[in-house]
Amino acid sequence: MTGIYLHIPFCAVKCPYCDFFSSVWHRETADAYIGAIVRNLAAYELWDTVDSVYFGGGTPSLLSVSQIARVLDACAAHLHLSDDAEITLEMNPAGERAAYLRELRAAGVNRLSVGTQSFSDAQLRLLGRRHTAQDGQNAILTAYAQGFQNISCDLMLACPAQTEEVLGETLETLAQLPVTHVSAYLLQVEPGTPLSRDQALLSQCPDDDAAAGLYLQTVRTLASFGLHQYEISSFARKGYESRHNLKYWHCEPYLGIGAGAHSCLGRRRFCVPKDIAAFCAAPVQTEDTLCEAAPEDRILLGLRLSEGIPLSWLSAAAQKKLPALAGAGYLTCSGERVALTPEGSAVSNAVIAALLV
Ligand code: SF4
Repeated sequence: MTGIYLHIPFCAVKCPYCDFFSSVWHRETADAYIGAIVRNLAAYELWDTVDSVYFGGGTPSLLSVSQIARVLDACAAHLHLSDDAEITLEMNPAGERAAYLRELRAAGVNRLSVGTQSFSDAQLRLLGRRHTAQDGQNAILTAYAQGFQNISCDLMLACPAQTEEVLGETLETLAQLPVTHVSAYLLQVEPGTPLSRDQALLSQCPDDDAAAGLYLQTVRTLASFGLHQYEISSFARKGYESRHNLKYWHCEPYLGIGAGAHSCLGRRRFCVPKDIAAFCAAPVQTEDTLCEAAPEDRILLGLRLSEGIPLSWLSAAAQKKLPALAGAGYLTCSGERVALTPEGSAVSNAVIAALLV
């Protein structure tokens, strides 16, 4: 089964911490861009069944329902789309959207990923988000009322001035909402962003130990709400794990369409240049090969999952390190599988790097 990722690189305003590829929204450019996505969907000859389509960004919810429906019609016309395909759209919480959400559901979108980030107005202001905590709650409740039963929300951890108490209030609010999935990410200070130059704000960010504490608080609290961790940053009710995102970690094929989109098809990893005008003008998108999918990818990506990886995937040198890492509480070795614990997930880069030998 293959997944389709559609990159929609438009945002109303750039958030000060974000280094994702996106540009300011422009209706005519978006129309041309959708035309190019449709052309590419027709041009790729995918024989495999497609069981997930993901509109990511950027802010895909800036698109009109007719633009989204045009893309989904092209998916149905040109792909072997399974009847139960997971069709996700990332959505910004701002604004009253009942009619939009109703039409979106009718067009075939069956999963929403809502960019809530926090349910604290003070935190949202510090992050430079242009929506309120109430907007986030309203977006989720309205989506549910309009027929969305699979709703994910994003949480940002280790934000400026975020304490366990502040985060706890956000998690308590989340517990009252009809959410089936949570993506919780530690705030990264990316070079070149306005946040990276804002010393006053950076000085309020939790240090590494405090950030790890906030992460572990999130893992424990979400588990108590029935949202189990299945990947380092992903939590879901049973049966609501993201089918699309699991393809990345299981090294399954996915095709990315759009400026800046990444793909892994037939063991080849490639990306499309981050050039909206070039993408709109080209009959078929340009593919810049990044590399061949490497054997260590499945270790690197598989260890992100709570299910872990088979012991046999690790080299003899890596297996010798397991007792010490398990003794420190960073991983478990049960039977023939190796998996990170939540404590290991909090320092995953170092633990995974130690095992890639
Ligand atoms: S809305 Fe999302 S993609 Fe757009 S600038 Fe903000 S964080 Fe980045």
